[in-house]
Amino acid sequence: MVRVGILGATGAVGQRLIQLLEPHPDFEIAALTASPASAGKPYREAAKWRADSPIPSSVTDIEVTETTPEAIPDDVSLLFSSLPSSVGAEVEPPLAEAGYVVSSNSSNARMADDVPLVIPEVNADHVGLLEVQRDERGWDGALLKNPNCSTITMVPTLAALDGFGLERVHVATLQAVSGAGYSGVTSMEIIDNVLPHIGGEAEKMETESLKLLGEFDGAEVSPHDAEVSATTNRVPTLDGHLENVWADLAESPSVEEVQAALEAFPNLALPSSPDPLIHVFEEPGRPQPRLDRMLGDGMAVSVGGVRETPDGVQYDCLAHNTLRGAAGASVLNGELLLDEGYL
Ligand code: NAP
Repeated sequence: MVRVGILGATGAVGQRLIQLLEPHPDFEIAALTASPASAGKPYREAAKWRADSPIPSSVTDIEVTETTPEAIPDDVSLLFSSLPSSVGAEVEPPLAEAGYVVSSNSSNARMADDVPLVIPEVNADHVGLLEVQRDERGWDGALLKNPNCSTITMVPTLAALDGFGLERVHVATLQAVSGAGYSGVTSMEIIDNVLPHIGGEAEKMETESLKLLGEFDGAEVSPHDAEVSATTNRVPTLDGHLENVWADLAESPSVEEVQAALEAFPNLALPSSPDPLIHVFEEPGRPQPRLDRMLGDGMAVSVGGVRETPDGVQYDCLAHNTLRGAAGASVLNGELLLDEGYL
């Protein structure tokens, strides 16, 4: 078993990480960190447990520590980070320098040239950028990122369609409230309402997706040359981001060819990679957040409403934002790092 730590373990994503890691076949939770205000307390006191299963007894008495290299035991090799991005920017590099391998969900450094941004089923080869990172920074450890939750929902579908010549993407999101964290939007803001702006989210979708779909030549990642335009909305669903995508393609595939390419997109033989990765609905009106977000234990992407447009294809896609889009994404990246020999 690989001994792992969770940074930001008391937060919404941190609690999801505990749910996923506690029964994991390869990882054993050995360290939990949070802010100085939580440090020194047993986890059951430090965390306001709000996840949808009881708090695992194996973590209740673990003492929460500060998020510093000195506070984390040396026999822990892999850290899952769900820190606010400003905190991640400050503490993740020293942890990687101190020898820890960090699989991070925070948005800091996602677009840095020597930091791999990875969805394992889409661009597992980009993990090789860690060699460049280690050479350039002199780190014994490593820092690897998963993308933003709305980007993760869309990018596997674009990767599946890239064989038809992906040229341009327009996307409008309908994002669940859990994506903003427990106290992110108030009930007075979101009940009976839609918020047509999520700060920084459209820009993340427009840049991260092209890095993920880019080519890694052993030294650097060249972004995909498609254009992506995004607009984002917060809607009153709890979990599950639904996205309306228009993908302009060089070729003119039929609906059946598009559905077949999506269904055939391969998964990986990693514990958290669902089979199939992309679930295609042919019936109208699906996918829906409440009905379909838990497909593949919350790690599948589902697609429906595929239809031809004058320039390509239009469809709707959905993924669970705190599983496939956050905690599950970091765990899957940890599994990839183990499989690739980085631990
Ligand atoms: P959250 O509920 O606010 O949790 C934040 C965590 O960070 C808590 O454990 C908190 O500890 C800890 N923390 C805060 N300040 C700290 C400091 N100075 N030093 C060390 N630890 C500190 O946030 P979240 O919703 O879980 O999100 C975590 C990260 O994931 C963010 O970067 C977010 O953008 C990203 N993300 C979230 C989602 C989602 O669906 N929620 C999706 C994708 C990405 P205390 O309890 O001690 O304050």
